[in-house]
Amino acid sequence: MFHGDDGPSHNKVSSVLLSWYASNKRVLPWRDPQGLPTDPYRVWISEIMLQQTTVPTVRGYFERFISRWPSVQDLAKASLDDVLHEWQGLGYYSRAKNLHKCAVMIVEAFDGTFQTAEKDFLSLPGVGPYTAAAIQSIAFNSPSTVVDGNVERVIARLFSLKTPLPQAKAEIHKLAGHIRSEEEPSNYAQALMDLGSSVCTPKAPKCVICPLEKFCSAKKHNPESFPIRQKKKEKPTRRGIFYFIQDDKGRVLLEKRPLSGGLFSGLMALPSEGWDTTDDDPVTRLKIKNIKPLPEKVRHVFTHFSLIAEVRYAESTIAEGVWVFPEALSNYALPTLMKKIFKLTLPETVE
Ligand code: SF4
Repeated sequence: MFHGDDGPSHNKVSSVLLSWYASNKRVLPWRDPQGLPTDPYRVWISEIMLQQTTVPTVRGYFERFISRWPSVQDLAKASLDDVLHEWQGLGYYSRAKNLHKCAVMIVEAFDGTFQTAEKDFLSLPGVGPYTAAAIQSIAFNSPSTVVDGNVERVIARLFSLKTPLPQAKAEIHKLAGHIRSEEEPSNYAQALMDLGSSVCTPKAPKCVICPLEKFCSAKKHNPESFPIRQKKKEKPTRRGIFYFIQDDKGRVLLEKRPLSGGLFSGLMALPSEGWDTTDDDPVTRLKIKNIKPLPEKVRHVFTHFSLIAEVRYAESTIAEGVWVFPEALSNYALPTLMKKIFKLTLPETVE
């Protein structure tokens, strides 16, 4: 199966990887500094935060989150608004809402313990096969196969996989399971992730110092060309109008987005129109007047589309909503797009 020079056994690959990991593991805030098994609550929070987000960004959020809610019981008792507020800037807010919902379910249905079968854990909102396997493997040393983006890259290169992603996912999962250490699945999972993050990097992989170099099929060709990916469709562009409405006291009008779903669900935002699935007409609904466009446009990229946001200054004295003094905006859970708009409209009060 391997194309390496000395025809290694699968055990040899994991044992070489584990020796490398013993002296090269990354220091991460969710890992135990002594190398003891990681608290499953910490694995869970970190894995949810790391979805779509890089390790350097997650570090600070993770440390603040854990110091505020050190256990799943603490998180279950928190208000959703507080959780969203702590999450602001990380994006993909459905992750925060599901995290909060899950904490309540874990306390109520699983007695506050994570020591539950992978399939039970999979029934929780926002928990996919990857997260369930990561908790089982990393926290409980169970023989689950954990495949994140780093692992996908290492495996695709080791085996020079010709199948493009995402179709190759099942094959990669199978191959990663094939070379898994049965004795140390937790360290194996983390070692593969660390190797992908620090050695087998997307650009310029450091093959000369790679412990798996002699087993690797892609090293002599063009490792950067793996994993092969299907061409992505270009994202469509939408345009929307956001109303920066102030009253005669200088307060800004915010509205809570519906909790029932959609973009920015449950977060505070400026009234807007034209870009999401609602057919809101804030000008009529809020009796907005003295509308003046801001010359600059704000650009923001969502998962499925890019947005060009036009900002319009406006006034209203009768609009209902939450009127907030600019210096108090940081007390609210605001999506990154709103922060970008406030950087233009309130440059002195928003970081
Ligand atoms: S030899 Fe190079 S391409 Fe192969 S796993 Fe190591 S770093 Fe990645």
